[in-house]
Amino acid sequence: MLSNSLVELDRRHLVHPVSSFRGHEARGVRVLTGGQGATVSDAEGRRLIDGFAGLWCVNAGYGHESVVAAAAEQMRQLPYATGYFDLGAEAPILLAAALAERSPGDLDHVYFTLGGSDAVDSTIRFVRYYWHARGQPDRDQFISVAQGYHGSSSLGAGLTALPAFHDGFGLPYPWQHKISSHYTYRNPVRGDQAVIDASVAELRAKIEEIGAERVAAFYVEPIQGSGGVLVPPMGWVKAMREVCAEYGVLFVADEVITGFGRTGPIFACEEEGIVPDLMTTAKGLTSGYVPMGAVFLSDHVYDTIADGAGAKAIGHGFTYSAHPVSAAVALEVLALYEGGLFENGRRMGARLMAGLEGLRDHPLVGDVRGRGMLAAVELVVDKAEKTPLPASVQPATRLFDRAWEEGLILRAFAQGVLGYAPPLCCTEDEIDAIVARTRRVLDRTLEDE
Ligand code: PMP
Repeated sequence: MLSNSLVELDRRHLVHPVSSFRGHEARGVRVLTGGQGATVSDAEGRRLIDGFAGLWCVNAGYGHESVVAAAAEQMRQLPYATGYFDLGAEAPILLAAALAERSPGDLDHVYFTLGGSDAVDSTIRFVRYYWHARGQPDRDQFISVAQGYHGSSSLGAGLTALPAFHDGFGLPYPWQHKISSHYTYRNPVRGDQAVIDASVAELRAKIEEIGAERVAAFYVEPIQGSGGVLVPPMGWVKAMREVCAEYGVLFVADEVITGFGRTGPIFACEEEGIVPDLMTTAKGLTSGYVPMGAVFLSDHVYDTIADGAGAKAIGHGFTYSAHPVSAAVALEVLALYEGGLFENGRRMGARLMAGLEGLRDHPLVGDVRGRGMLAAVELVVDKAEKTPLPASVQPATRLFDRAWEEGLILRAFAQGVLGYAPPLCCTEDEIDAIVARTRRVLDRTLEDE
């Protein structure tokens, strides 16, 4: 179908709330038509490097025939099996076992969801079931981190600390509390250890203010994604995990973005040397080919909930949990990762970070941060004062458009932050092109400023 008529139909019928309704209608959708490796093409025949892997999810890259074959074979054989009535299917069982083998420590029990938001919501319910089973139902208060993102369904949206996800809904709920972000570039506290110490003190104070016997769980992203790719000093996550252990508070790692090779290892917690009590994943699990998320429960969390429930069911389940087609895709994607993509991602991640570091000399670049294939460049108009790029002068959509014109898709956050999460299959030339095209975006932004 002609791209113009698609744009018109989209404008009239397809809802894009996160891009702003009327703004989106005015700009019109850009219709993507194909993808191969790290490159996507649009309806006008333009080819672009997808520097954001869709929405930080197409970690394996586009166009893997073996993934298509795995999905087709599963659809042919058995497209669906419910987990209700004690039924199951081979692919989700094998996937759960494969993930348990690769997850940190004793996170050996896997509950499948449809994506990240319902994975987070599931953990909130599991945490509550856990404390009920422990005979401490008053442990019903949750803590998360400012600038954090934990999904947009209502329980998780309350843990999310981005105001747009709260307005009009009375969120966060009264049982949801926040501590400040590490956001090292703009943290008034300077120095890695000082930032860690300040967060430890704040988490302790928050737990004591609420009452340790009331706090159920603490949620953290190993690297904050949607808040602007905010990387804590190494040791920060571990220090927070230790505070939780000290107070008996469950520690939940939200690895929806950082999981599946995004920062180097299969899970970011691995390089932090910690084992959370619960962990959420999605995105890279199926590399975006089909929807799926996974919650990991440690032995003690699983056993406590299971013993507490006894032979009774608990009221939590989705029609499409443990979907066989999604599971078959995830198993094939995992084979691709372990067949070389994780390794390539580690090498390309180092190249990307080195390349972006080379942009620090640019007059508009205030900060470069990231780990592996997850990075950000923060633009400022005054480096000494760290004055943000005024949104009125350089709205995120204009930065996005400039990158698009240069043949690059990246995420432009509202606060003048460019976000990178390229597929792990990128070649050296593609990584170098991402950096070179970014420099042209910066030069053009400077000219217009
Ligand atoms: N948690 C984190 C850390 C995320 O980044 C996201 C999505 N960006 C979610 C949860 C929600 O995932 P989904 O969009 O798949 O519902």
